[in-house]
Amino acid sequence: ATGRSLPGTDSLRRRAEAALRRCGAGPAADAVMEEIHRATGTDAPRTADDPANPDGPAVIRARTPLTGGTLGLLPAATAEQTEAAVAEAHRTFERWRTVPAPRRGALVKRLGELLTAHKEDLADLVTLEAGKIRSEALGEVQEMIDICDFAVGLSRQLYGRTIAGERPGHRLAETWHPLGVVGVISAFNFPVAVWSWNTAIALVCGDTVVWKPSERTPLTALACDGLLARAAADTGAPPGVHRLLLGARECGQRLADDPRMALVSATGSVRMGRHLAPRVAARFGRCLLELGGNNAAVVTPSADLDLTVRAIVFSAAGTAGQRCTSLRRLIVHEELADRLVARLVRAYRQLPLGDPFDAATLVGPLVDTAAHTALTAALATAERDGGKLLTGGDRCFTTEAPDAAYVRPAIVRMPAQTGIVRTETFGPVLYVLTYRTLDEAIALHNDVPQGLSSSIFTRDQREAERFLAADGSDCGIANVNIGTSGAEIGGAFGGEKETGGGRESGSDAWRAYMRRATNTVNYSADLPLAQGVNFL
Ligand code: NAD
Repeated sequence: ATGRSLPGTDSLRRRAEAALRRCGAGPAADAVMEEIHRATGTDAPRTADDPANPDGPAVIRARTPLTGGTLGLLPAATAEQTEAAVAEAHRTFERWRTVPAPRRGALVKRLGELLTAHKEDLADLVTLEAGKIRSEALGEVQEMIDICDFAVGLSRQLYGRTIAGERPGHRLAETWHPLGVVGVISAFNFPVAVWSWNTAIALVCGDTVVWKPSERTPLTALACDGLLARAAADTGAPPGVHRLLLGARECGQRLADDPRMALVSATGSVRMGRHLAPRVAARFGRCLLELGGNNAAVVTPSADLDLTVRAIVFSAAGTAGQRCTSLRRLIVHEELADRLVARLVRAYRQLPLGDPFDAATLVGPLVDTAAHTALTAALATAERDGGKLLTGGDRCFTTEAPDAAYVRPAIVRMPAQTGIVRTETFGPVLYVLTYRTLDEAIALHNDVPQGLSSSIFTRDQREAERFLAADGSDCGIANVNIGTSGAEIGGAFGGEKETGGGRESGSDAWRAYMRRATNTVNYSADLPLAQGVNFL
């Protein structure tokens, strides 16, 4: 099923302008729009698509995957502007760290209110730049609101511990202090939620933030930056708590290399992490990495198939397969594989594909045509490896929108977990493998370089517990009877192995944004040394 028709780029541009204007701080938004109009008239600008730029692109192209058309051109941050932003964030940190945490929470509380008031505007921009369907775009903004709530509560709960010491007249404790400037580098597919996970928590922890969003979602970033600037003005927080830098990878590299960036929290591909992490490590900086996933679900003979089919279709085809937690591998017991696959193929063929603003659409476009080229190459490799393409992989709306990539989600039955199955292809492809014993299923499950999210579908408690046990799933997220995608903010989010090991969002992920001091206080008149050492 395909949706009726697609909107034109002009109407999308007007929609983006209106949303931006409503989110921006009045004159600032106007200035942005002027920049957009001026830059759009520029001759042959060096855009982020242009690889031959040692200094990075001069211009960032705001583009919509809905048509592939240009929404506007924005000047990219220069090296000098990056330097100035980091310097200002660093200066501001020196003040912000002494503001009591509950007062820092007031800033985040106000941000949460503004995000609530502008939920529709932000969701519009998410759909326009990332191509998400309406309900997923609104859900992403809701996630921002939720993390603000969480962070406000946290602002009164940055607990340290007291520790049982071994010496009389001494107190042993640990204290958590603000860390410094946090660099947030984010990916296109969660253009606002990932920023908010990092920023809401970092701000209550007493850090300041420099954000380099994906070069593919600059307008969404401008809107968030505008709302945070307003929240700062409303609550009397210094404006330098947050700086936005529009730029491509060079800009991210500058942040990675700058010793004033205490933490670089980077979300994106494994390739990006491989490049960035050694640079941060070279100066002994801290990295928080949220990289690619290659998520699997094990389906056992006792699974509730109705629930399982719904969960699989949402996890694998939802967001057009462009979530880091998207389901990419299905490990099904051989007894039910044919039955399950037949149901999935039927469900896939009925998925409405098209304009993500249309309420009936469930699958929107891929981010660009290069993503479809990568998907096509992966499908060809899978077929060479003996895989059978059962449905999908083809492009729709090629006449109406030749520069966009509306692609039917694909299912491929594989004879084995070959190299391509072990690779994250960032699009809607689900590889189906079969197993005989649970040990075999878990071995297959874990035999990939990535370790983000995982699920088991079963009504057998032994199987469920085994999957969650130390010798079960090796992922940062392990679920039972629910898909691999769609995590709540209350838990810590992240994964192992090539996914990078970082944890963000809920639970005690806040600790990554603070530094821990161990304090030993001697309130006695004696000086006993630890471990019974005698000296003087
Ligand atoms: P990407 O790696 O192309 O870009 C991500 C960000 O990193 C962008 O801001 C980009 O400009 C920057 N960047 C890229 N190379 C860099 C370099 N060498 N130095 C510094 N910065 C660099 O990823 P993408 O295509 O935007 O997003 C999709 C990828 O992100 C997928 O692999 C997906 O699994 C992953 N992802 C992971 C999570 C997670 O939480 N684990 C969340 C979302 C996306």
